[in-house]
Amino acid sequence: MSTIYLNGKLMPIEEACISVLDRGFIFGDGVYEVIPVYSSKPFRLDNHLLRLQHSLDGIRLNNPNSNEQWRQLLAQLIENNDGDDQSVYLHITRGVAKRDHAFPENIEPTVFMMSSPLLAPPKALFTTGISAITAVDNRWIRCDIKAISLLPNVLLRQEAIDVGAVETVLIRDGFLTEASASNIFIVKNNVLLAPPKNHLMLPGITYDVILELAAENNISHEVRDISEAELRNADEVLLTSSTKEVMAITRLDDIQVGDGKPGSMFKQLHQLYQHCKATIMRGNSASS
Ligand code: PMP
Repeated sequence: MSTIYLNGKLMPIEEACISVLDRGFIFGDGVYEVIPVYSSKPFRLDNHLLRLQHSLDGIRLNNPNSNEQWRQLLAQLIENNDGDDQSVYLHITRGVAKRDHAFPENIEPTVFMMSSPLLAPPKALFTTGISAITAVDNRWIRCDIKAISLLPNVLLRQEAIDVGAVETVLIRDGFLTEASASNIFIVKNNVLLAPPKNHLMLPGITYDVILELAAENNISHEVRDISEAELRNADEVLLTSSTKEVMAITRLDDIQVGDGKPGSMFKQLHQLYQHCKATIMRGNSASS
């Protein structure tokens, strides 16, 4: 049975209750984070906490905890759940109040954390890659905020599932933004290309790790706008997220990407990412 954290207490998930008037439930008025934990150590926690602060600032909600408090709460949650590799979901809403769009005064935010086992993506996917579709990015223009109101992302992801694909790659005004729950890179002529971080995409923690690994390992890379035509003519298309790590998209809209197999850039980055994870498992500072 999994142990969760809710408003100051650890408890079995079955015992956790929140009010139907919680603004997260009523309005989707809240933000969240997903933090991968390897060998009981949160990966890139400082970066996740920085992004959490950015999201909270974006919705004008005070951070209920200091970074040190978050660190301690996370450690307790990890300790009280099974497995060394976990995926911690952290969620803060504006709290419980009579339904009214305007911010209520003097209420406490709802703070919720849960953990699930973090399963490495199936090995077969590294040899076959995954298929994705494209869709128009019809979300709002503050996609840099990790908001819990994910209805557009849910609907966009389902479009992929409906046709047997795994992810939906998003295009806004002729340019690649990201995907429904991951960031997207392309490769052309051995150059790794990434769309720039702005208000139209979530600044992925894995996205940053990939660009750092590229810089440290002399992999040619550029951060710049990527047109839909470039996406469709890419030699490789890569997806990144904290839970999926790096994956190769080998079919896009049912058309083969490059030669239809995970390419050499994917293989190199996948290996470097595994090495980066292994380093933190040995207690290196990459965990912070
Ligand atoms: N974009 C979106 C819309 C996401 O939901 C996510 C996380 N699932 C990402 C990108 C990847 O971010 P991260 O690498 O921090 O998991």
